[in-house]
Amino acid sequence: MKGITILGATGSIGISTLDVLSRHPQEYRVVALTAYRDAKRLFQQCQQFKPDYAVLVDEHACKEFSALLKESGLKTELLTGAESLQTVAALPEADYVMAAIVGAAGLLPTLSAARAGKRILLANKESLVMSGNILLDEVRAHQAELLPIDSEHNAIFQCMPHDRHETLEKNGVTKILLTASGGPFRTIAIDKLGQVTPEQACAHPNWDMGRKISVDSATMMNKGLEVIEACWLFNTTTDKIQVVLHPQSVIHSMVQYTDGSVLAQLGNPDMRTPIAHALAWPHRISSGVEALDIFAVARLDFEAPDFERFPCLRLAYESMVSGGTAPAILNAANEVAVDSFLKGELSFINIASVIEQTLATTEISTASNLDMIIDADRLARENARQFIQSVKH
Ligand code: NDP
Repeated sequence: MKGITILGATGSIGISTLDVLSRHPQEYRVVALTAYRDAKRLFQQCQQFKPDYAVLVDEHACKEFSALLKESGLKTELLTGAESLQTVAALPEADYVMAAIVGAAGLLPTLSAARAGKRILLANKESLVMSGNILLDEVRAHQAELLPIDSEHNAIFQCMPHDRHETLEKNGVTKILLTASGGPFRTIAIDKLGQVTPEQACAHPNWDMGRKISVDSATMMNKGLEVIEACWLFNTTTDKIQVVLHPQSVIHSMVQYTDGSVLAQLGNPDMRTPIAHALAWPHRISSGVEALDIFAVARLDFEAPDFERFPCLRLAYESMVSGGTAPAILNAANEVAVDSFLKGELSFINIASVIEQTLATTEISTASNLDMIIDADRLARENARQFIQSVKH
């Protein structure tokens, strides 16, 4: 039986992970569950899965959870504070760690799992975007495993030869075709983008996700972060990654080989498939996802992305080419801008402007150690906040 810690258990990926685990009680045991402040949901999850530990970062939420815990007589031990996330990511009882915290907050706990030699199921793409070289070095140094949960990267992983540490060329791969739905604003008139609301941006046509990644999908920053993630995961460069708009979200990505073959992974858009895949790899287990009805799908469409409509995608490509701390700056500026947009303080089109200005004014350095990344992240957040003050809605 494998023990698992779920970082970000109360989020969209955390909930899907617990759904898959509930189908395999003989194979997996939940060791720890974490959340930021959603005490009620975390408590319900603890009642069902009876983990040894629960972590709530927010102190007020901890009080609420403690009261519920006392009444229930549950044996789960409650920990608090951001450092506890790193503790439960490294517990000896946990073989696997689902890294599903949203944003830069996922970086240190993911690194902690790597240092403890865990199988990391990586949903938190932001940690690879910020510090790909450092995270991969830790994975290698501690014989950890990094398996992608992002549906696209999981699809690429499934279509790749097994030796991922070789370069793509040596494996006969000529290109990665990274699919993207194009989000809710793929066809809206560009001059209407200034007025779109957070609710419209979060109404993704095919996927049900947390709010931050939903906005990232609407700006296509999500795809940009995924381009960077793919460079690190598959040991390649941006020129080998072609983003393909595919509005049906049935093909989750493709790998093109030198002999003319293109391998694709298809399935219904449901995160339980990549989660089940990474949990059981190299075997297969049921996920609860319905079999794909190819006749109901009937047609598959593909388009090239429009960088004018989606400037965030261009910025992400450019930041990876710049290298060093540029992707960390991009990520930090994006988090600040998306948060402001969700609070109604910034218009949708100004998300890209804030990121562009932050990248232009924050010094880019080599990303040779964690302190440099954390510094770049902090500076970029300060700069992005200043731009937001100066930008009119
Ligand atoms: P959600 O917003 O739904 O959930 C985020 C989780 O992280 C919650 O458990 C939340 O706790 C916790 N959390 C938020 N902030 C902090 C913090 N500062 N410290 C500790 N915990 C925190 O996000 P998603 O599940 O949608 O996404 C999670 C990650 O997975 C992201 O990196 C995203 O890009 C990636 N991903 C998501 C996909 C999806 O389909 N949703 C698909 C592919 C990748 P609380 O509930 O208490 O706020």
